[in-house]
Amino acid sequence: MSLKGKSALVTGSTSGIGQAVAEAFAAQGCNVMLNGFGDAAAIEKLRQGMAGKFGVRVEYNGADMSKPAAIADLVAKTNGAFGGVDILVNNAGIQFVAPVEEFPAEKWDAIIAINLSATFHAIHAALPLMKARKWGRIVNIASTHGLVASAHKVAYVAAKHGILGLTKVVGVECADTGVTCNAICPGWVLTPLVQKQIDDRAKAENIPVDKAKKDMLSEKQPQLQFTTTEQIAGLALFLCSDTASNMQGTQLVSDGGWVAQ
Ligand code: NAD
Repeated sequence: MSLKGKSALVTGSTSGIGQAVAEAFAAQGCNVMLNGFGDAAAIEKLRQGMAGKFGVRVEYNGADMSKPAAIADLVAKTNGAFGGVDILVNNAGIQFVAPVEEFPAEKWDAIIAINLSATFHAIHAALPLMKARKWGRIVNIASTHGLVASAHKVAYVAAKHGILGLTKVVGVECADTGVTCNAICPGWVLTPLVQKQIDDRAKAENIPVDKAKKDMLSEKQPQLQFTTTEQIAGLALFLCSDTASNMQGTQLVSDGGWVAQ
């Protein structure tokens, strides 16, 4: 598929899934706005590398996705840089793990802000631009935790369930506008977000990291393979293709059988 001349804003694209999604769009000729935290020199290397490799424009904006005004500015800057925001991938996210009665209130607030409210604020700002051009694709990165629960992830599970509800409402409201809004629910993907959970588990249980990794997979994901960042990027591309133009307010799940059980 060609996305030549289109532009995509991918939040949280300095690492993991977001970075793979940004690369996949750039590879199809799409201009890309990167966003996320990290080492400034590494981000600039990523930006230049992507632009050079794929011959597209790649910009970076370090907006903090917990801040509504910064999100509105990020969307406006993307529009200013590329003359439109055709594709919005709401991906930035964080995790924190603790039993509900020990869960710090500030961690709850941060996860709800970054993993849920940021998606509302970005859509709120970008949707009028998409509707005016009668074409747009909104892809929300949810999770298997949008469909089922795990212990000790109260804020994350609440936020991801919220993402699927928000996706349905926006999808229904976008019917017949040329804009679609859908979600992707990955199972375990081996990114820094999950590596931290593996390392924490290895430490807590005093077991080798490799054993912690295998245990986490076998608990949830019967295929015993991590979903790859490239596979999630492929699903995001698919949701932007003509084949998916009649998909609205729904989700694609890639979880090695996690929620089928
Ligand atoms: P990651 O830690 O590799 O990447 C997260 C990205 O979000 C980074 O670029 C980080 O800088 C950015 N980010 C974090 N806080 C931010 C903030 N306040 N403002 C701007 N950017 C911020 O994690 P990942 O695994 O690639 O996760 C990406 C998304 O995929 C998240 O929404 C996560 O919930 C979801 N997800 C991940 C998995 C998995 O197994 N890795 C599974 C299901 C869903």
